[in-house]
Amino acid sequence: MGRVSRGLGIPRSSGGRLQAGRTGLEEQATGGRLEGPARKPPTKRQLDAIYAALLEVYGHQQWWPTASEDPEEQRFEICLGAILTQNTSWRGAASALANLRAAGLLDAASILETPLDVLGELVRPSGHFNVKARKLHAFCETVVFDGAGSVDTLLEGEPDEVRERLLAIWGIGPETADAMTLYAARKSTFVVDAYAYRIFERLGCPPGARKYDVYREFFLGRLGPDVTVLNEWHALLVRHGQQTCTKSRPRCEGCPLLRRCAFGRAEVQRG
Ligand code: SF4
Repeated sequence: MGRVSRGLGIPRSSGGRLQAGRTGLEEQATGGRLEGPARKPPTKRQLDAIYAALLEVYGHQQWWPTASEDPEEQRFEICLGAILTQNTSWRGAASALANLRAAGLLDAASILETPLDVLGELVRPSGHFNVKARKLHAFCETVVFDGAGSVDTLLEGEPDEVRERLLAIWGIGPETADAMTLYAARKSTFVVDAYAYRIFERLGCPPGARKYDVYREFFLGRLGPDVTVLNEWHALLVRHGQQTCTKSRPRCEGCPLLRRCAFGRAEVQRG
């Protein structure tokens, strides 16, 4: 993965602070005015059309942004970034990563040797900094002791094997494990976040209940194992959710998905 511009789409966790927002399910549940289409999962054809529309407007997102030049250091940096961006914006995570870099701490052994209070101060811009410092220690402990110091050892194997290994580390949940598996290990998985829930519920074609595994399994099954496609899908959904299909006051009038979206048409009518 090459070095990319910070101006491109950026990772963001769906954690506690980022909620899906109003999606139209509320109106339907209470018999309200939104006349949405039958809510059934998107077909492959619909998914392809949504992907093409988003790609045309936003272009390739070139995730995951890293500042490192060395490929293994890039993978390690992606893993750290996936932890640091939990429950916060990428801006805070990037600032914390820059502090770690400036302190010469972009390797697992060095992070592990750093006292938690010192590490906490360095990652303060990412929020929840004491917990994040503990999570970084837990991750680096696994790299050092189970991976003989190499993040690549930790990321070796079949996608599900890698994901399970990561999920076993304290502080790493499904979204973080999938981000590491897809963007650091470059293995097939789908990263689910609140943007995916919001966009597909608003489009009237949620894959099912708003549950992580329901969405992940659906998209993996429908999209197939191509890592480049899976990478771009998640990145485009984040970009669309941040830029256009925002939590409140989505910019429906200029949205490339408007003609497919009953929620958006209702928003436009409402003015
Ligand atoms: S029209 Fe677009 S921006 Fe508006 S709700 Fe639908 S997907 Fe979101």
